[in-house]
Amino acid sequence: MDWNVGSTERMIRDTFRAYFEEQLEPLVPAMERGEQLPYPFMRRMHRELGLDTFLRSAVSNPEAAGASVTAAGDEHVTRYARTTFSVEMARVSPSFALSYGASVGLFGANVAKRGTPEQVARYALPVIRCELVGSWCLTEPQAGSDALGGMQTRARYEGTHYVLRGSKTFITNAPYADVFLVYARVEGGPLDGSIQAFILERGMPGLSTGAPMKKMGMRGSPTGEVFLEDVRVPSEQLLGGGVRQRDHVKSSLAQERLGLAALSYGIAERCFDIARNYAKQRQQFGQPIANFQLVQQRLARMYVALSNARRFVYADYYSDRALSESVAEICAGKLYCAEVGTFVAFEAIHILGGYGYMEEYTVERLARDAKLIELGGGTTEMQILTIAREILR
Ligand SMILES: Cc1cc2nc3c(=O)[nH]c(=O)nc-3n(C[C@H](O)[C@H](O)[C@H](O)COP(=O)(O)OP(=O)(O)OC[C@H]3O[C@@H](n4cnc5c(N)ncnc54)[C@H](O)[C@@H]3O)c2cc1C
Repeated sequence: MDWNVGSTERMIRDTFRAYFEEQLEPLVPAMERGEQLPYPFMRRMHRELGLDTFLRSAVSNPEAAGASVTAAGDEHVTRYARTTFSVEMARVSPSFALSYGASVGLFGANVAKRGTPEQVARYALPVIRCELVGSWCLTEPQAGSDALGGMQTRARYEGTHYVLRGSKTFITNAPYADVFLVYARVEGGPLDGSIQAFILERGMPGLSTGAPMKKMGMRGSPTGEVFLEDVRVPSEQLLGGGVRQRDHVKSSLAQERLGLAALSYGIAERCFDIARNYAKQRQQFGQPIANFQLVQQRLARMYVALSNARRFVYADYYSDRALSESVAEICAGKLYCAEVGTFVAFEAIHILGGYGYMEEYTVERLARDAKLIELGGGTTEMQILTIAREILR
C-alpha cells in the first residue's frame, strides 16, 4: 500500500523494505524451521544498516535516535524512521522482529535507561550492538496476566547479595540468551516486599534454561523457560544498583505494547498488499476476482482497519504527539492493532482461497504470527481492563 508521505519518508521506507526483502526474507524458511537462529542476522543487520549510531544515541538521548538514518536530523522524519524500521522488519518476519525487540528493546533499552553506568557499559551496549542476546523475564507458570500480584519468584536479601529462586516461562530468546532481566519479589533488606529487576548472566550457578518451545507461530523466535535454583546474585546486579524502581514494569510494558502494535501493523500491511495484488491477477469466471463486489468488500474493510491501525502506530508522526503519553491510548492502540493484524491476515487467506492456506503464499505464516500479539504484552482482556480503569479514574 502506498501511503501519502513525503519523498524522504518514502526513501527511508524503500531502503528498509529492500534491505529486509533482500537480506532477511531468504533466511526466513530456515529460521521458521529452527535450523537457523535469528541472532547472527541481528549482528549483521546492526553492522550493515549502521545501527550503532542510531541506537547508541538512544541510550543518552532518545530524541536523537534515528539521526544517522535521516541525515537531515528532522525530528518528524526521525519518528517515521523509527516506526518504519519495526514495521518493515515485521512485514518480512514478525518472529525475527519479536526476538530483536525482546533483546534490544526490552533488555537493552531498559538497562540503558535505568541501569548504573557500569550496567550500561557491561550489558546494555553489547546487547544493543547485538553482540549479546538479551531476554526479559516477567511471566511465570502461575502468573501471566497477574504477573505482579501472582509473582512467586523470590529474591532473598543476604547483605552483599540476593538469592533468587523461582521460574519464568514463555520467555522470548531464553533458550539462547546470554543475559536475563529477571523480575523477583524481594524478601528482607531495604527493598523488602518490592518487585525488582536483576541482571543475570548465563553460567551463573543455579540458572538454567529449557529447550525451545514448539509454537503455533512466531516459530523463528525461540521461546523458553528460565529456572532459578538459589542463584546467588551480587547486589550490583540489581537494575539501577538498588534504587527502588517504581512503575518500572508498567513503563516497560508500555514500550512493549507500542512495539507490538507496530509488528501487528506490519503484518496487516503485508497481508493486505499480498491479497490486493492477488485479487487483481487471479482470474475466475473469465475475469479478475477483484471485479467481484464480495471480494471488494473484504478488501475495503481490510483497508479501513489498516488505515485506522496506521493512525495508532504512526501517532507521533502524524500528530506530533507521542502515544506513550497516555496509558489508555497505548492499550487501545495495542488492542486494536493486534486485532487488525489477525483480522487482515485471515481475510487475506480467504481472498487467496486454497492458495492462502498453503505455506508458500506467506499469509498463513503471518496469520499464525499475528495471533501472538493478541496474547503477549498483556492479552486483549488486560488491555480492556486497563483502559476501563484509566478512563473511569
Ligand atoms: C511466543 C510468546 C512470547 C512471549 N514472550 C515473553 C517474554 O519475552 N517475557 C515475558 O515475561 N513474557 C512473555 N510471554 C508471556 C505473555 O506475556 C503471557 O503469555 C501473557 O501475558 C498471558 O499470560 P498467560 O499465558 O499466563 O495467560 P493467563 O493469564 O492465564 O490468561 C488466560 C486467559 O484468561 C484471561 N484472563 C486472565 N485474567 C483475566 C481477567 N481478570 N479478566 C478476564 N480475563 C482474564 C486472559 O485474557 C486469557 O484469555 C510470551 C508469550 C508467548 C506466547
